[in-house]
Amino acid sequence: MNSKSKITQCVHSGSIIDPITRGAVTPIYPSTAYDYIDVERFAYPRYFNTPNQRVVSEKMAALENGERAIVFSSGMAAISTTLFALLKQGDHAVFQNDLYGGTHHAITQELKKSGIAYTLVDDMDVSSYEKAIQPNTKVVFIETPSNPLLKLVDIRAIAELCKDNGAVSVIDNTFASPINQNPIDLGIDVVLHSGTKYLGGHSDICCGVAVTSEKLGEKINESAINFGGSLNAQMCALLERSLKTLALRVNQQNSNAQQVSEFLAAHEKVSKVYYPGLETHEDHALAKDQMLGFGGMLSFEIKTDPDQFVKALEMIKPAMSLGGIESTITSPTQTSHSKISKEEREKVGISDFLLRLSTGIEDVHDLTRDLDKALRSAR
Ligand SMILES: *Cc1c(COP(=O)(O)O)cnc(C)c1O
Repeated sequence: MNSKSKITQCVHSGSIIDPITRGAVTPIYPSTAYDYIDVERFAYPRYFNTPNQRVVSEKMAALENGERAIVFSSGMAAISTTLFALLKQGDHAVFQNDLYGGTHHAITQELKKSGIAYTLVDDMDVSSYEKAIQPNTKVVFIETPSNPLLKLVDIRAIAELCKDNGAVSVIDNTFASPINQNPIDLGIDVVLHSGTKYLGGHSDICCGVAVTSEKLGEKINESAINFGGSLNAQMCALLERSLKTLALRVNQQNSNAQQVSEFLAAHEKVSKVYYPGLETHEDHALAKDQMLGFGGMLSFEIKTDPDQFVKALEMIKPAMSLGGIESTITSPTQTSHSKISKEEREKVGISDFLLRLSTGIEDVHDLTRDLDKALRSAR
């Protein structure tokens, strides 16, 4: 199935036909108790090997061009299980500092307790990652595009750096989704997703995924059995249904985000737009090189009151999270970056006038009309 296009893989990869009815969709197998006679390892939800878990895993492995995928009950379960599978006492890891808040918090709260040292790299330059590598560095962890300014890290260069230094390269690919970026093709070892975002795509599933090689997959699976962050059959079936439209949704979100970015960049009440698909974006050349599409996420700075602006929006909703079919907006200084001092925030380019938009699949003219009206009504 790997030679098929993404849009076809979304529909077909992994699905199983019910032998009794030959219905069109994978049946839901809710059993938590399976026969153990004459099987190598019996099926059990926390072993990550029940039929519906296998179906979504196979689809995700196909979409990321990996050999093995493990589906978790949240993005953080995928991230923490992977880190603790790959790291042990005495090891060192290198992390991008500009990470999803939950990942940043997990690292700073949990790793030292287990005797794992780490370095946070402040900028996105590969030379800074190289400087942070130590003889005992076992993992390098990046997230690109980053939140909320959509900065990019050179994925190929990080993968190469890891190969030269015997470290496992790990990427959080949530913002791009497998439709817009396939890091395994660029040399990355482990690809992680918060499936709560684009994979689920309807703001109603919490899940996570790790995609990797057979060998690393077995290692992560062993730890996953111990930590227990598995997803149940009903949620796996819902995720499978969502993944069937992933390419359709993301392609529409890419197109909407590009047009909304161009609209905002030309608007008199907007001072700055951050979107990798704009030629003015500092990493546009790198985005063209390593991404297949520029994504549905963008951020922009406005010249009017951000609270009034958000309240004046009629269709676009203020909401945490991202990646849904409905467009949502957040103020990073009031949400994801609220715990960082104003001074620190402004140093990295996150002002109180910055807003992050997760573009949905609506008609783009309805989106620009809503934005335009709200920009004009705020003072
Ligand atoms: C949401 C998110 C996570 C965490 O995922 P959960 O499903 O909330 O556990 C990790 N990384 C990124 C980039 C995210 O947006």
